[in-house]
Amino acid sequence: MRNRTAYMEEPGTMHIREIEVPQPAEDEVQVKIEYCGICGSDVHYYEYGRVGDYIVDGQFILGHEVAGTITKTGDHVTSLKIGDRVALEPGIPCGKCEFCKSGKYNLCPDVRFFATPPIQGALQDYVVHPADMCFCLPDNVTTEEGALVEPLCVGLHACRQGKVEPGKTVVILGAGCIGLVTLLSAKAFGASKVIVVDLFEKRLEFAKKLGADYTVNAKEQDTVKAVKSLLGKEGADIVFETAGAPKTIYQTSLLARAGGTVVLVGIAVESDLNYNFAQVMGKELTIKSVFRYCNLYPLALSAIANGTIDVKQIVTHRFMFDDVKEAFDCVIEDAENVVKGIIEL
Ligand SMILES: [Zn+2]
Ligand SMILES: [Zn+2]
Repeated sequence: MRNRTAYMEEPGTMHIREIEVPQPAEDEVQVKIEYCGICGSDVHYYEYGRVGDYIVDGQFILGHEVAGTITKTGDHVTSLKIGDRVALEPGIPCGKCEFCKSGKYNLCPDVRFFATPPIQGALQDYVVHPADMCFCLPDNVTTEEGALVEPLCVGLHACRQGKVEPGKTVVILGAGCIGLVTLLSAKAFGASKVIVVDLFEKRLEFAKKLGADYTVNAKEQDTVKAVKSLLGKEGADIVFETAGAPKTIYQTSLLARAGGTVVLVGIAVESDLNYNFAQVMGKELTIKSVFRYCNLYPLALSAIANGTIDVKQIVTHRFMFDDVKEAFDCVIEDAENVVKGIIEL
């Protein structure tokens, strides 16, 4: 057994090196990783060596969107066995704090999350992980789909935060990976009309393919006017911001109807932003935000298994592990065309 690992020595570099195969503790399983999705945060670490206050110090392994097959189980593990295919939920919460106990373990201050310094990532042949954070894949869910559960959960959590339900109208600003998983989730939650807004026509075509009822190209049209001509002058029940851009964040309160909800999903580089609070107060809007997700892996897996969500559609680029550097470079250079790149190990 060899454990190939993709190390980033400094931004823009990638070296494959073999290290020892990790052994599972009592409550852990050892997993042969078979697929790893490339996330926006991985790319950001690769380009800049940091994401916000998380700074890479020394050698770093990227990757947190993973699935594979169990190769060994710890002595106390009874829920899983060797040969089970699993999706790994990448954040390990402490399980003891008030946030964990109240079920919002995504807010746990002591969470250990793959590829978030100083915690190393999962872009390697073998990892060990707590058994209770590994979710068995139904027979008709592929291992590649298992690796897509992680980004899908962000979209599902966004829709849960926004309380999307049958009949609701939705606007999604941004048609990158997170915008599109929010689209898939909103449709699965029963939204009647979903409008997706982006600057790139190719991405909008992709959104249409994935089920968007309407698209708006913000390069050619005024977003607020276009949305109101499609939904009526009141605006949308729920507005999702997934681009993280000051301009689209500003537009959210203008697009939401009275009593509506704004969900902030995209992460802005700037911390202080201009926002129209007169709109918020005059329309009694609710503003929600999203930090990762919690308690959603089982829901995501059943939605994929029963055909409610066809998540594999978001994969636009596939790479082999030996080409890991090319994979990251491609995702950066071809940003307009890449929705989700995935690496096979
Ligand atoms: Zn991710
Ligand atoms: Zn905790």
